[in-house]
Amino acid sequence: MSNDLPIRKIIHIDMDAFYASVEQLDNPDLRGKPIAVGGGGKRGVVSAASYEARKFGVKSAMAGNLAAKLCPHIIFVRANFERYSEISKKIRTIFFEYTDLVEPLSLDEAYLDVTQNKKGNPSASLIAKEIRERIYNEVGLTASAGISINKFIAKVASDYNKPNGQKTVNPEEVIEFLEKLDIRKFYGVGKVTAEKMYQKGIFTGWDLKQKTLEYLDTNFGKSGRYYYYTVRGVHNSEVKPNRIRKSLAAERTFRENLSSEVFMLEKLEHIAEEVSRRLNKSKVAGKTVTLKIKYSDFTLQTRSKTLQYFISDKSVILDTAKDLLYQEKLSNSVRLLGISLSNLNTEAKKKPEQKSVSVQLKFDF
Ligand SMILES: [Mg+2]
Repeated sequence: MSNDLPIRKIIHIDMDAFYASVEQLDNPDLRGKPIAVGGGGKRGVVSAASYEARKFGVKSAMAGNLAAKLCPHIIFVRANFERYSEISKKIRTIFFEYTDLVEPLSLDEAYLDVTQNKKGNPSASLIAKEIRERIYNEVGLTASAGISINKFIAKVASDYNKPNGQKTVNPEEVIEFLEKLDIRKFYGVGKVTAEKMYQKGIFTGWDLKQKTLEYLDTNFGKSGRYYYYTVRGVHNSEVKPNRIRKSLAAERTFRENLSSEVFMLEKLEHIAEEVSRRLNKSKVAGKTVTLKIKYSDFTLQTRSKTLQYFISDKSVILDTAKDLLYQEKLSNSVRLLGISLSNLNTEAKKKPEQKSVSVQLKFDF
């Protein structure tokens, strides 16, 4: 690695099977048993599965009835987002004792930049170990951690010794780690991109590295440049304490303007499903549902309703959106409908003052 690269000490903390572990913590009868958290039971979608259920192949985002087929004695538990937020806040309080540079990705995941930290501890690995021990002692849950020079590598590494483990990729190991990395581990490489990579003979970071910047640019657009630098250990995205999602939305524009509410309900159902899918994917829930209506004359109207509790379930989102649709007569035919969820349960602390980070060339990881 060239010496002009800024070396940062980044920790990615990821709670183990968070929602399911919270349920098992709160209800001793569920401990050691296969459980699936999700509002709809068999008819819904699994938000999180305990490790006992994962052994049977049950995963998050899986349909409830498939989960029940794979694991007949699975126990479905309704999600309690208030409780998950409460625990998430406790965990974050621990993070802030070490650094203000905390970027939560969801209730159960965060990046911490501990290059300079409040404890004056030069070892990010020891900080990660201490944080995991504190989470266990103070909250009763296990977490895993990845530690390295940038967010990307830290996140990949936190998966290596999961659950209840951690992995450090030291600065001098970074290049080899990236070269050996499965191409599917790179950000943004889903099924489609992976297939495209395979066709070009790219299966690992090393294969990726053999391609020029021009080649990757031409074949993968904007992401090409990103891949080119990431595989060389250059990933300068900072830990952004204020980068927290404020809302989550989905909308549809119709080929023909709609004037019948019956047709609109059908569209709303798809939109609610999409919003719910995204909420579950990001592991967030919200209290405020906003219905966006764009009329054929392009005037825009929004109608909102705030509930007493956090929701992420399609059926509740849809019911609330329907209420909003019927709340007032439509003034024209409609060309676009959208639903957004705000007041999310991921609200973070105010942005702390950012200090300039000096580069430390002593690699205590
Ligand atoms: Mg997790």
